[in-house]
Amino acid sequence: MSMPQYSFVIPVYNEEETLEPLCQRIAALLDQLDAPAEVLLVDDSSHDASYRIMCDVHARDARFKVIGLSRNFGHQNAITAGMDLASGRAVVVMDADLQDPPEVVLEMIAKWKEGYHIVYACRSRRAGESWFKKSTAHLFYRLIGNLSTVPIPHDVGDFRLVDRAALRAFQSLRENNRYVRGMFSWLGFQQTAVYYERAERFAGETKYPLKKMLKFATDGIVSFSNVPLQLALNLGFLFSALSFLTGISAVALKWMGYTIPGWTSQVLILSFFFGVQLLVTGMMGEYVGRIYEEVKHRPLYIVREMHGLASDTRALRRAVLPADLDEWRRPPIGMRAPAGIDEIGSLV
Ligand code: UDP
Ligand code: MG
Repeated sequence: MSMPQYSFVIPVYNEEETLEPLCQRIAALLDQLDAPAEVLLVDDSSHDASYRIMCDVHARDARFKVIGLSRNFGHQNAITAGMDLASGRAVVVMDADLQDPPEVVLEMIAKWKEGYHIVYACRSRRAGESWFKKSTAHLFYRLIGNLSTVPIPHDVGDFRLVDRAALRAFQSLRENNRYVRGMFSWLGFQQTAVYYERAERFAGETKYPLKKMLKFATDGIVSFSNVPLQLALNLGFLFSALSFLTGISAVALKWMGYTIPGWTSQVLILSFFFGVQLLVTGMMGEYVGRIYEEVKHRPLYIVREMHGLASDTRALRRAVLPADLDEWRRPPIGMRAPAGIDEIGSLV
């Protein structure tokens, strides 16, 4: 097949019920495109039948390629894996659950042809999501929009089209705690939006339970804002001023002969201050923990198996970008690469 003009990157985690209809809808879309396309299905180590279904789809239609990660690295890293290996001139990222209607891609391509580097899809309405999810998402997008040092558009997820120039720039960002939608805002370039109604999940459950959602939201805020640290510092100033005043008044009262009868006020003040201290330490911990993650310099994902991509060594070479990881990527001399993987090895 000639070099694809378009690549679709789709992270998949336990989506066995959706994969067949998804691939059918995407295949129909590919037939409408004006140039060849490839679809990279990134299996984030699903433990249902997803991987088998993806391999079946690949066997039927070679435009669908499969990347299997060695464990569950999370949505954002799965997207990164696909974007590293995509070889199209325009790369589209979309979810596997059909919440992002594939047909919107035609509008994105039209905008790309007008000259935009990044075309993101903005949700004008969200169907079938709980009141809780919609209202927390609404609040979160506004909060991060205000805190972030770069403007991050509201109600925009990871559904977007990116051209080669922006993609290359994105590939140079190898941070571990990834908030991909914010990273694209940070990149700059000519960006524009297309609006769409976010459909209901086709089948199955969301893979973002409350705990993961909170981690994702914290990653977003901590990666793009130092405001919580500044807040901690300001709180520190405020409360040290207050405690200074409390100290002076306590000494003055003692000189005037008043003794403080109760301990209630003391307990209240102490517990309040301890609370604030814990809060501030916790905030700092969020940043320190992330610094620790970053200094380890671990790869963002490990590929276990690939189908349809093994011969494209140029794409593989792009998979790990920092130059210092280049050596490590090569399998030791005399060691045979596992089946399905070319000579560069499975660790990317
Ligand atoms: N996903 C993934 N790894 C994960 C969690 C999710 O690859 O650890 C995929 C999932 O299969 C889907 C996309 O990421 O294609 C978005 O997940 P989901 O639809 O559950 O998120 P929501 O739309 O509910 O925010
Ligand atoms: Mg979804």
